[in-house]
Amino acid sequence: MKQAVPIHPSQRAHLAREIDRIGYMLVSRWERPLAAHLLSLVLRLEELVRTIGLGDIAAEAHTLARLLQQWLQQPLSVPSEQERYGQLRHHLGVVSQLGLMERQIAIQGAEVRPPDGGYAPLYLWLPPNLDASTLQRQLACFGYEVTVLSQAAKLAKALQEATPAAVVAFTDFAESDPIVQLAPAISSSCPLVLTSARRDFPSRLAAARMGASGFLDWPLQAHQLVDLLSFGDIGERRDPLRVLIVEDMASLAGLYTRVLAAHGVEATSETNPENVPELIERLNPDLILMDMYMPQCNGIELAKVIRQQRMLDGIPIVFLSVEKRQAVQLDALTLGIDGFLTKPVAPEELVVTVMNRARRYRKLRSYIANDSLTGLLNHSHLHGQMDSGIVRARRDQLPLSLAMIDLDYFKKINDTYGHQAGDQVLLNLARFLKERLRRSDLVGRYGGEEFAIVLPSTPVDKAHQMMDALRQDFSQLEQRAEERSFRQTFSAGISSLDTADNATSLVQQADEMLYRAKANGRNRVESRGD
Ligand code: GH3
Ligand code: MG
Ligand code: MG
Ligand code: MG
Repeated sequence: MKQAVPIHPSQRAHLAREIDRIGYMLVSRWERPLAAHLLSLVLRLEELVRTIGLGDIAAEAHTLARLLQQWLQQPLSVPSEQERYGQLRHHLGVVSQLGLMERQIAIQGAEVRPPDGGYAPLYLWLPPNLDASTLQRQLACFGYEVTVLSQAAKLAKALQEATPAAVVAFTDFAESDPIVQLAPAISSSCPLVLTSARRDFPSRLAAARMGASGFLDWPLQAHQLVDLLSFGDIGERRDPLRVLIVEDMASLAGLYTRVLAAHGVEATSETNPENVPELIERLNPDLILMDMYMPQCNGIELAKVIRQQRMLDGIPIVFLSVEKRQAVQLDALTLGIDGFLTKPVAPEELVVTVMNRARRYRKLRSYIANDSLTGLLNHSHLHGQMDSGIVRARRDQLPLSLAMIDLDYFKKINDTYGHQAGDQVLLNLARFLKERLRRSDLVGRYGGEEFAIVLPSTPVDKAHQMMDALRQDFSQLEQRAEERSFRQTFSAGISSLDTADNATSLVQQADEMLYRAKANGRNRVESRGD
């Protein structure tokens, strides 16, 4: 038996790239000696990966080798261009792409993580002498279930049992501080947020070196923590980046989806360019990863179609293609395409390119479409989204409700505690709504102290229940104005597509209900049909 020689991954990658290069020469022109050379490369790859248990790649390489053998066994005939373009290109794509992957990756049926919803667990590490009950209560109102821990062994055990959304830890950066020792273990399994009374440069540097995703002042302010938790790697655990993959080869689309999903990205693939505009509207992706060559139309044409819609003018489009000619790539880049990845693409390169661009776009988009104080959708964007929500609900025959919220006696808060404290209340409500509502719900600041929430797939009675639960919880939140603290309530009115048939009447009916809630004593929810 032959001795299995340890294989360096770069050897496999090199082979994969060679197979891709030679293979594509054969797609455009069939030459027997070149085909024989390709066959030998494919057989070598098959043998290489079989010895290290990469069965997926071995099986695909085997299929490609069989195809080449079949063609080579017929000395008098040449595979047609159509056969080469169809079969050879397909198998090449899969083999070379798989050859670059580190681990075994099943080819089809990518699974997408379901959205979380519900309460997110949070571990809070504090020395025993610090009281966390207020913070714990406040964070609960924002949808976090906080477990307070103050013993290293308990924290280690808790981390083994369940991975929280994040670990928030107090530290003084002393060498004896257990968190300094535990930091590498924590940050390798979940995001770590540090809080400290020290803010000097050495401390901030130490925090960065400990692998912290964020660094906040002690005493911790609940809203600052919530802000931090909804962005970057922490926020993406609750609201993953969304990527739409347009690729006519389903096998490759499945592979890319898997690679991205392994990094927490929600990837959806589509093989038919014609479905893309509607999918974009439905998925609201943060980036589109697009194949350059598809039978129906090419990637550049599809990109132009997408860019025709003003709202989608800025969505990043990254091309994925076998195109190696710089002139063509340059053409695409000139057209406002954001990047060009060459197939087969190394998984790390795919992940980094996609995630960085998607992240930046998500941030940028939130600045433009959102109200500058609260970060919620502004009036006009909310209306735009409401209109498309109504169209979708009608088409899919699903219910849809609208809730209008108005703070109670808010003028008095401004008068008593100052405008700044009032702004803080508005911010708290915005964060509260964003944290507590479902991802599909749309929250906007409708006017000064008025908010609107579009609740798709939600009948009026369910919407009433949801809003009432939010109302109760929000009224429990402690609002702060420097040294003083107070409570704030809101009233809400609800309407639904059952009784309204367009956006105008939906808003009007919700307003009427809100007026009724105010008239009936405030701090309550009213809906049509009560
Ligand atoms: P009601 O329960 O009837 O709604 O009483 P209210 O005092 O909340 O209602 P009113 O409409 O009389 O007053 C709304 C107040 O909201 C007046 C305005 O100063 C305040 N407001 C609106 N926008 C902002 C804002 O951006 N920041 C602050 N701090 N206050 C705002
Ligand atoms: Mg293609
Ligand atoms: Mg008002
Ligand atoms: Mg008001």
